[in-house]
Amino acid sequence: MTSKISIDLGTANTVFVDSESGVILDEPSVVAFHIKDGRKKLFAVGEDAKLMLGKTPESIQACRPLSDGVIADFDAAQEMIGAFFRKALNRFMLRKPIVYVCVPYGATPVEKRAIKHSVEAAGARKVGLVEEPMAAALGAGLPVLDPRGAMVVDIGGGTTEVAVLSLGGIVTARSVRIGGDHFDEAISNFIKKNYNLNVGVSSCEKLKHEIGTAIFPADGKGRSATVRGRDAFNGLPKEQVVTEQDVAEALHPLIEQIWTAVMSLLDQTPPDLASDIHEYGLMLTGGGAGLRGIDKALSDLTGVPATVAENPKYCVAFGTQIAMNLGKRMEHAIQRDP
Ligand code: ADP
Ligand code: MG
Repeated sequence: MTSKISIDLGTANTVFVDSESGVILDEPSVVAFHIKDGRKKLFAVGEDAKLMLGKTPESIQACRPLSDGVIADFDAAQEMIGAFFRKALNRFMLRKPIVYVCVPYGATPVEKRAIKHSVEAAGARKVGLVEEPMAAALGAGLPVLDPRGAMVVDIGGGTTEVAVLSLGGIVTARSVRIGGDHFDEAISNFIKKNYNLNVGVSSCEKLKHEIGTAIFPADGKGRSATVRGRDAFNGLPKEQVVTEQDVAEALHPLIEQIWTAVMSLLDQTPPDLASDIHEYGLMLTGGGAGLRGIDKALSDLTGVPATVAENPKYCVAFGTQIAMNLGKRMEHAIQRDP
């Protein structure tokens, strides 16, 4: 039997889902090259390569080939996709798989073709492309084929994509350059400004997972955690206790920017669809939707109910798989020759 693979090629993480066994790969979208005699050779990919970011000697280069939802480095992206394929798929697979890939809304035809060719070169038999907001909505279980407006807010690493869907199509969408990576940076900047401490973004990402929240705690403090960094004045190692209140304060301006994007899209939405959205609410997907309280914060700001999808990080990959299985009913939303 031919296996069907769906791929979420995200800025921060790449996820492969197999129709038989579910998630078969979930790794950071990072690749590292060894440079010798002016030639680049693949050195590491995914989790291993992420650990190298910012720590490589001159002869090794680690990078994220996708940034802000677009391909920033074509060659690196191609190598990364190939390496993930080899890692995730059985080399002895009898028949080449059918592969559907989710592409950012607004990706150019050149970018789409590059993604398609990379996947073909890696060993796919047939390739289909699905646009990200559609995949996210399907994966979140929204009834996108119905004549009813639905809004999905996908909070990724580098961008948040907000879209309105109805009757199996994207009615309107917009992307803002705010995502989980910016949350980490905002936490780092907050700690530097308020505690004179330099803390790296990966420590801030850990802190976000531990005590991250979009809501100001009732007691003005909430839970706390300790971070290690370097004193901004004397350069010595120092520890600092950081509270939920600190994190909420650091993240608030970014949550407001997501709010602004939602409101401006609602403004552009035809009235009947907008009234559906007011009734049924916003659906939050993407890794960033895992931030505690982000549903409450956004529904307080917008006045529209907000729900976090089940397994928000995997919505796009599973939604792409669903698009594949819907066959004819989704055909209009699948691109084969960009
Ligand atoms: P992309 O689609 O851009 O690859 P993802 O949807 O994988 O991005 O989301 C990655 C972002 O989600 C990262 O910034 C990561 O820190 C963040 N993230 C993942 N899980 C959580 C969580 N439980 N709480 C807060 N942020 C999270
Ligand atoms: Mg994504």
